[in-house]
This record gives sequence, structure tokens and C-alpha cells, in this order.
Amino acid sequence: MGISSWVKAEAEKVLKLTEGQDMITIETGYGPSGLPHIGTFAENARTCFVIEAIKKLAPERKIRMLVFSDDFDGLRKVPLNVPNGSIMKPHLGAPLTVVPSPYDPRLSFGETNNNLLKAFLDSFGFSYEFISATDYYKSGRFDGGLKNVMDNYEAIREIFIKTIKEEKRADWSPFFAVCEKCGKINTTKVTGYNKTDYTVSYDCTADTEEYKSCGYSGTVSIFKGKTKVGWKVDWAMRWAVIGIDYEMHGEDLTESVRVSRDICKVLGRRPPLTFKYELFLDEAGEKISKKRGNGLSMEQWIEYSPLAALVYFLLGNPNAPKKMGLPILPGIVDEFLGYAYRAEEDDMTAPLWYLRRFKKAILPAAPPKITYSLLVNVGRTLENPDGKTLFDYALRYDPTIAADRAFYDSLCQSAANYLANTPAEKDAYEIESVMVPYLQHIRDYLAKQPAGSPLNGDELQSFLFKITKDHELAQRNWFLFLYNVFLQRNSGPKMGPFFAMLGRDNALKKTDEAIARLAV
Ligand SMILES: [Zn+2]
Repeated sequence: MGISSWVKAEAEKVLKLTEGQDMITIETGYGPSGLPHIGTFAENARTCFVIEAIKKLAPERKIRMLVFSDDFDGLRKVPLNVPNGSIMKPHLGAPLTVVPSPYDPRLSFGETNNNLLKAFLDSFGFSYEFISATDYYKSGRFDGGLKNVMDNYEAIREIFIKTIKEEKRADWSPFFAVCEKCGKINTTKVTGYNKTDYTVSYDCTADTEEYKSCGYSGTVSIFKGKTKVGWKVDWAMRWAVIGIDYEMHGEDLTESVRVSRDICKVLGRRPPLTFKYELFLDEAGEKISKKRGNGLSMEQWIEYSPLAALVYFLLGNPNAPKKMGLPILPGIVDEFLGYAYRAEEDDMTAPLWYLRRFKKAILPAAPPKITYSLLVNVGRTLENPDGKTLFDYALRYDPTIAADRAFYDSLCQSAANYLANTPAEKDAYEIESVMVPYLQHIRDYLAKQPAGSPLNGDELQSFLFKITKDHELAQRNWFLFLYNVFLQRNSGPKMGPFFAMLGRDNALKKTDEAIARLAV
């Protein structure tokens, strides 16, 4: 079984659940108070894997893929990364599609972020139907669901209040009214409801430090965007009204899913099949937070790694810990490169099956002999190498890559970007002077090769081992010495291929420099 067996298993469960249905409806959710990020990509990519598997297992079934934007939610705070956020301040507490956009005076903040989401998803070739919560509420498409919530007020209340503190239970309402006077939603408190005419009464009196209420009191119909329901009820109502069959969610929403599933049943529909994924961790195993900027952002993934490596990363079990971070990125990309060319045919448990169907993910045409780590290590010895320079080094090392120019151009460009933005770390180490004379053997070996000739990395690697045997050197110490002489690190690549990629002339020059430097 391949590491992607979870995808096929999910697809089979969806097919079983939806047996006899004409249409399978799958959803991902988006909160447009921030920009699309790595979590947005991950959820959409994983959902798209499951859809590909369903299409393969049951090609006759019809599938709808919805991206649902919660743009009718109130905005609580000006997001940190927004320029000119002061124009949003007076509107805090109002729905996202009411708050003006600091980027474009013709649009709301919610619309701006919806547009960014669509551009983001389009750039990766996802296909989906976009749904705006505001549109669904205001057009009346949720009216049937809202009526259903009102009709089942007590049953929903019973489920919900068990999950909140006792002192909050008396005031709890599934409905939030949009204040008719100030247009805000987070400032209102529902004070009564009327099941015969489907109205709620409210006071606009709930202030926080971020937003202020207007003091108005009124009674409004629950329909046509005059009210909305709170998050967990909202999720359940959406599942019931649209008829969602499948949705993934982060581990942090496990409790919401449980409550929303129960409410969905009260609303008279079987809840969707849900699939929990673990949140990403940084290289040290800490949870990723935007504030700390740990882990890897989507921008960093795109700049420093081939997209296919990220897709491969996401094809592993979403419930196994997923560590990502700048220091471990070369290892992550190398894992992909080590895997990326396999001859598996039609194996739906193997990542390759999905990678081939992810249109924007470019795969190597033959098994790569070059690793990303090697490119980075060689790049560290050069002065500000660009992608072209790294490609020239890679080409000298393995001339066959010329036949796969697009893939290696992009790999070398990614490595160059990584090098330009991650300062070289230097490890503390004291050069063992006893090792220094043996550098002369490397020098002699290199000098014997004709100038400008390609080096055989494997042969050179054997030669480096031979030095340890001939002179009874501890292998570990010898290579630790070489890493430090050439990279100032305590770990490094296979040194034979490293010299081979540097090329005979450059390797000779660096060795001469090292001998001169260490002889003093
Ligand atoms: Zn108000």
C-alpha cells in the first residue's frame, strides 16, 4: 500500500454514503477575513485528490466541488497585514461584505479577499464552484434553512447550550440580527423570537474594545439576509440546505463538527462524511502560528520548492504529524525527488497517480541524480548564484538533465531563491590539523584530471574512502573535517558528488585555497 492509500479509502467511503444519489456534493470552506494560505491550499489539494479518486472509481457519477466563503460573518478586528486599516475601523462588527476594502474603494473587504481566493485557486488549476454566504443569505437561498432552524429552535438549543458556559446559556440564540440602523451584526443581541411570523427582536448594545453598538432596538424577519445563524448552526444549515456529502476540516474544528453534525440531523438531513486532518508543525514540532512566522508559508513553498514537492508532501497521511520549516525544506524536496520517478501503473494508493493528475505539478522525466541539498550545498560555496548558474553546475554534473530542461530550470531556480533568502549557517568546529596534509591527496587527484573535464562523483567518493583506509583515518572524522573545510558545517552531502558538481577546475581551486588557508 502506498502512502496515499487514505485517499482511495476516503473516496470509497464517499461512494458508499452517496450510493443511489445522482450528484455528489463536496465542499471546502474559507474565512475571508485573511488571505488564502498554506492551509487553504492543503485543504483544496487534498479534497481534489479525493475527487480524482472518486472519478476513477465511479466515472459515471456526477461531482460538484464547492468553495464556500463565510463572507457574511462580522469582522472582529483589522487584520495585522492590511495597509490603511483605519478606513475599516468604523465598520468593525459589520459583515465582511459591508466593511470597505482598503485595497479598492469599489469593493468590500470580503469581496477583495474572495477575489484573491479565486485567483489563488485558479493559479493552481483547481476547478470549483464559488459560493458567497452573503449571496446565499440575501438572495433567500437560505430562507428554507433559516425557517427550519426556527422551527427546531428548542432541539438545536438543547444540543448547543451543553457546549457553552452556564452563565451564557440563558442569552443564547442561534440567530444574529443585522442591525437595521448601523448595519453591524456582532453588536446585536437577540432578545426574543416569534415562531409564527419568523421574526426576532434584538438590541444593538454589545460593545467591545474594537467595535461600538448604536443602541437601536428592533424586530426583523429572519429571512433574506436580515439575520444570520452563528457558526456551528450555520455549518449545519449549509450542509442541510445545499446537501453536502463530504468535507475535510482541521483538527481544531473537531468539536464544531460534532455539534454541527448533531444539528444537521435535527434539520432533517444526514450529515456529510467529514475527514479530520492534523495541523502543520514546524521543524521543531511546534504548532505553526502566523504571528511567529514559523513553519513555511505558501509564498515560501512556491518560491523555494517545486510545486510538485508540496503536492507530494500533502499526499502523505493527513493524520500523521507534518513537519515543515526552512531548515528541513531541502530534505522534504529530496524525499520528493527520490520518489518522483517511479514506474507504478494505475496504483491509486501511490502518490504518483495523483501527482500526474495535478496539472500544475511538473514531474521529472527520468529518475533525478541531482538532489536539492546538493544544489544548495554547492550554491553555498558560490557567490550569490542564480538559477542559471546552478543549472550550469547541475548540467556539468549530469548532462542528461538537458533533456528535461523545464523541470531542472525550475528546481535550480527554487534552490537559488532558497539560497538567497536563507543565510548560511556555520557550525562551531575546530579543524583537526592532523587531517590537513591529506587534503593534498584530493588536490593531486583533481590535478591529474584534464582541465575542464567532467568528474565522476562516485569514483571520487570511493577515492575519498580510500584515503581513510590508506592512512587509517576514522571515516566519520575525515568527512566531518571535509564538511567543515568546504561548507563550515558539521554535516553535508556526499563529498564525491559535491566536488563533481563543482567541477574539476573549481574543486581544485577550492582545495588549493583550503590548503593555503589551513597551512598557516
Ligand atoms: Zn446598531
